[in-house]
Amino acid sequence: MKTCQEIIVPPRSGRAFTVRAGQTVRIVDLEGRQPGDLVVFKADDLAVKMSQARTRVESRKVAATQGDSLWTNTFPPEVMLTIVGDTHGSHDLLYPPCCRYALEKRFGVSRDGCLENLAKALEAWGVKPHEIPDPLNLFFSVSVDDVGGMKVCEPMSKAGSSIDLQAKMDCIVAVATCSVPFPAKEHTGYRITIGETSSL
Ligand SMILES: [Zn+2]
Repeated sequence: MKTCQEIIVPPRSGRAFTVRAGQTVRIVDLEGRQPGDLVVFKADDLAVKMSQARTRVESRKVAATQGDSLWTNTFPPEVMLTIVGDTHGSHDLLYPPCCRYALEKRFGVSRDGCLENLAKALEAWGVKPHEIPDPLNLFFSVSVDDVGGMKVCEPMSKAGSSIDLQAKMDCIVAVATCSVPFPAKEHTGYRITIGETSSL
């Protein structure tokens, strides 16, 4: 992969960037055990964006890994990004982004969450917080029991874990490093590399 651009997402922050069809985005969890959120918009029509529910149904899974795709909210749906590499193995497709409301209510901390950080990163494109779709939850796992109960699992990704997503259309991608406190874990950052690949 020939590198075109490198972006650092600091702890508890968001970044957004354009990706052309055929390019691959590699996201590296630099120090490990750091969940994050990824959302996607179609570059020339921001009303077209990732649908977390459509993505679940197309793969019939509540988490994504290599070989799975992120789908649009359109009818018929289209593939936006396909996961072409994944050293971690599972990224949740059930949870919404964390936000100031959830952090205060559930964790008793007063700070911006992924929603606010994604919104800040997407400000330049005029995207409002309520227009941000539910994400692909990077390096984050949720278990579901026989009666549908959900439980957040402790983050388990190793330092240097990575996921590669290849764009199937021109996109705006936004990524946030999560602000939810986990026991005995400092918040850490991601490195994102956008590279050229040979073909779609
Ligand atoms: Zn979060």
